[in-house]
Amino acid sequence: MSRKLLLEHINVPGINTLDVYRQKGGYRAVEKALKTLTPEEIVEEVKKSGLRGRGGAGFPTGMKWSFLAKPEGVARYLVCNADESEPGTFKDRYLMTYIPHALIEGMIVSSFALGAKVSYIYVRGEMMPQIRILEKAIAEAKAAGWLGKNILGTGYDLELYVQPGGGAYICGEETALLESLEGKRGNPRIKPPFPAIAGLYGCPTVVNNVESIAAVVPIINDGGDEYAKIGIGRSTGTKLISASGNLVKPGVYEIELGLPVEEFIYSDEYCGGIANGKRLKATVAGGSSVPVLPANLTLKLANGEPRLMSYESLSEGGFATGTMLGSGGFIAFDEDQCIVRNTWNFSRFYHHESCGQCSPCREGTGWMEKVLHKIEHGHGTMEDVDLLWDIQRKIEGNTICPLGDAAAWPVASAIRHFRDEFEWHIKEPVKSQSQNYGIANY
Ligand code: NAD
Ligand code: SF4
Repeated sequence: MSRKLLLEHINVPGINTLDVYRQKGGYRAVEKALKTLTPEEIVEEVKKSGLRGRGGAGFPTGMKWSFLAKPEGVARYLVCNADESEPGTFKDRYLMTYIPHALIEGMIVSSFALGAKVSYIYVRGEMMPQIRILEKAIAEAKAAGWLGKNILGTGYDLELYVQPGGGAYICGEETALLESLEGKRGNPRIKPPFPAIAGLYGCPTVVNNVESIAAVVPIINDGGDEYAKIGIGRSTGTKLISASGNLVKPGVYEIELGLPVEEFIYSDEYCGGIANGKRLKATVAGGSSVPVLPANLTLKLANGEPRLMSYESLSEGGFATGTMLGSGGFIAFDEDQCIVRNTWNFSRFYHHESCGQCSPCREGTGWMEKVLHKIEHGHGTMEDVDLLWDIQRKIEGNTICPLGDAAAWPVASAIRHFRDEFEWHIKEPVKSQSQNYGIANY
């Protein structure tokens, strides 16, 4: 049974209220941090914990915090990225819906550590219920003296605001988010400079994911060393995984990093296996932006050892035989699912969401969508598969922000692992229209 640090009390009635959250030990981390620790000591605990960014990139959180510039007389900001939009990813929404004070508590401790006096939670615009839940929880916390002026009599002031997002996937990219927060169109900025040097309104800013900020609470309560004991290698702590697709029990699970993927998919504690007695065909382990893997490589490494739910194990073998933990949006495809159709679907998404600033992404995502549509609808040629490969290669690494790579990788991995399925669509256009390409066709 995995230890639960974030979701331990998720089923307690009323845990979304301040009173019940407090009864379960909530806001202890704020008391400890503000009354007994210095900002530097908090940063040190987060560094010791080994926590890595839970939005998808996995960048060490303590290191990011220590990069924050501190010029005299210049404001610093903490911005929580709650613009969760990655297809297959719904773990932050879950946390904000059911246990909003965990995020608010994490925001107070993290803002104190970073020296921020004004902080923002930028929430995906479509998540109106969550925006209302957070606003209510912030009002409760403020009325009880956990926010505002002179918190707990320590002299520390913090104002926390919820900002609805601009309704575009690209606003989840941290610099596009900052542009949007400043009231502009959400176009990504060229990095460097990173937000830690020049972020919101040109001031030093840390942008952290919801889950990363919530994880600071158990790190401060129990200490960074205790947190680092959970997990495996450089993948420390627990991780929220949103599981969807053809699973018996889709949902949000908190796992200890290092759990075998096979156990995650098939054990009753987690997803309970593939729905309707079907076989697993493929997975996307970390949201749509990571390579798709066939079932055999999902469960085992190329050397036959079990693959684990960790940053290192999921990416073992590079893109030839591996993928990425990403945002933890785990999608399972059963034997009846069509990889070509799914790849076309992802391509449509990225084409629609491209901000259009750079040509390889703006034009390339459109061309990938067109060529995939052609193949999926029975009009493709063998040259189209090579053309697709060529387009994705010209996008990867040649764009301002990671959306270009994110659009290229699903296409590259689908061709790499399921080329025969593309070819079957071309050779058997009528048949491929009338039935899915299942394992039986191999
Ligand atoms: P990144 O690797 O460029 O940066 C990660 C973080 O580290 C950023 O905050 C960045 O500012 C910081 N950083 C990196 N190098 C730094 C340096 N030298 N100095 C200071 N700070 C530095 O990745 P990214 O663009 O932030 O994120 C890409 C990931 O986002 C993808 O892998 C994808 O999985 C994920 N994603 C998630 C969602 C979602 O809904 N959760 C949506 C889209 C994408
Ligand atoms: Fe915009 Fe795409 Fe370029 Fe990112 S990669 S800046 S989304 S055009």
